[in-house]
Amino acid sequence: EFTGYIGTCIDITERKQQEDEIARLLKDEKRHSTLLARVAEASRSVNAVLSTESIARILTEEARSIIGAERAVTSITLEAADRQVIRAISIAPEDRTTTPQEFSSTEEAIYAEVSRKHKPLRWTKSELLRRPEPTELKAARRCALAAPLVSHGGRILGVVQLADKQSGGFSEEDEAVLVQLAAIAAVGIENARLYDSLREQDRRKDEFLATLAHELRNPLAPVRTGLEILKIAGDAEQSKAARDMMERQLKHMVRLVDDLLDVSRVSRGKVELRREYVELRQVIDLALETSLPLFESARHELKVSLPPEEFYVFGDLTRLAQVLSNLLNNAAKYTADGGRVALSAAQDGTDVVIRIDDSGVGIPSEMLPKVFDLFTQVGRTIDRSQGGLGIGLSLVKRLVEMHDGSVVAESLGPGKGSTFLVRLPLAKKRMARANASSGDGVAKSNGHVPRRILVVDDNADAAASLAMLLRYNGCETRVAYSGPAALEVVGEFHPEVVFLDIGLPGLNGYEVANRIRRELGLSRTVLIALTGWGSDEDRRRSHEAGFNYHLTKPVEPTVVSDVLARFTANSLHHERSERRAPR
Ligand code: ADP
Repeated sequence: EFTGYIGTCIDITERKQQEDEIARLLKDEKRHSTLLARVAEASRSVNAVLSTESIARILTEEARSIIGAERAVTSITLEAADRQVIRAISIAPEDRTTTPQEFSSTEEAIYAEVSRKHKPLRWTKSELLRRPEPTELKAARRCALAAPLVSHGGRILGVVQLADKQSGGFSEEDEAVLVQLAAIAAVGIENARLYDSLREQDRRKDEFLATLAHELRNPLAPVRTGLEILKIAGDAEQSKAARDMMERQLKHMVRLVDDLLDVSRVSRGKVELRREYVELRQVIDLALETSLPLFESARHELKVSLPPEEFYVFGDLTRLAQVLSNLLNNAAKYTADGGRVALSAAQDGTDVVIRIDDSGVGIPSEMLPKVFDLFTQVGRTIDRSQGGLGIGLSLVKRLVEMHDGSVVAESLGPGKGSTFLVRLPLAKKRMARANASSGDGVAKSNGHVPRRILVVDDNADAAASLAMLLRYNGCETRVAYSGPAALEVVGEFHPEVVFLDIGLPGLNGYEVANRIRRELGLSRTVLIALTGWGSDEDRRRSHEAGFNYHLTKPVEPTVVSDVLARFTANSLHHERSERRAPR
């Protein structure tokens, strides 16, 4: 007989709830990992391309599809002068109603808002309705999400925006994902730009090397021919013509190499200006000295017109003359023979503006800002080369800027001539006059030309040729090829002047100079440093080592005779270095 039963009843509500929770968390987790995997995949795609357009396209497509928006647009502003915008649009395949034009209408407002605040933006429908843009556009939108593409330095490169999520509004998580995608794309865009600029630099460097080789080989051929002529030349006139030609070619080559050295020194900040108060006429005269031969050989008409007043600037005479002669040389080079070039100057406020006009080949407008870039030449072709390396104007610009001035190029286009304008701040007049009249205090020659000269150089040809030149000037010379040998000769020959190379085997030039002064106690022997390095730091070192002069190689024969003529045995210590002749 059934008497009853014992049973239990367990409430599993909690367990079920926990199971549901776990299932939900698991689902969330899965969704999260899928999301992460998709973001990682998008990042790989962005990294695989190297053009801003492709990055914009991938970002737009991926952001829209990962977050599930109906429409997406990315706008990226290019760095170029015209600030052109790259735009990529993605519209969900289900959305057949929106056209790209329609979508672009509120885009600008969002772009402006995001780039102003440097922050992502998430608008709900009601926030959208508060915007002042036309209502019919807002009606089409339920919500918006946007994030800036920020560069390494904090600059806004562009904005990615999404509109109308397929299910509900945009969440905080959507915002985090979009910010992450935007950051990946920003890095990609910066890399793409870097890659482009490296490629461009590399291309320019290759082009430059080709031009350099060409430009250096050009003068070598006539020099070699000249040597042959000298060997077989029957009369003095033929030899002289060959020598003149070789000299011209050599000068040209020295100028190219000097420009190269200058531009590298200027860009490494190794050039220091020797500033003084100089009057513009001094600068122009010095520049003309260098440039006139070019005008004469091309039979150009050169007109210099200056107002009667004086223009003082506080600058480096040699460097300013180098600026003007570079511009004048270009005017002569890029103008067909028999052309017209005019140089003028006028005051403009607190500046003086120097203007060089030519009637030459002109410059296309898109090249005007670029001609000052290093290695840039308009329409460069090896066979049309004008004997330049594309560094002159870059040097001009840097030197002018070191003088707190500016330089611009103007031209109405090809065939219409060019104008270069150099603007320099005027110096305060009273000070300028006082300084200009005080003179430079350099000891001048009393007519004594030193006779016993020692030349020290480990390059035997260089030593022999300088010694030969000095012998032609009536000096007695000895030659030494190393530091210790130099000291020996000094001991027995007692030279009045020593031309001393710095890079020497055994003991370097500084050490030799030091020993001549300190150990041999010869304080009146004139020591002239001969070196490839001419920065202020090099000059300071040679001065400290006891040198009286510092000449940069290759030394022009005229500079040597100048130096010899300028001093006497006891007035030498007033002077330290020669002023480099402008080119
Ligand atoms: P380069 O050694 O080629 O003369 P620059 O730096 O001096 O180098 O000049 C750069 C380029 O600018 C030149 O190659 C030339 O194409 C252009 N340029 C410079 N000056 C003038 C000018 N007065 N008229 C026309 N083109 C010029």
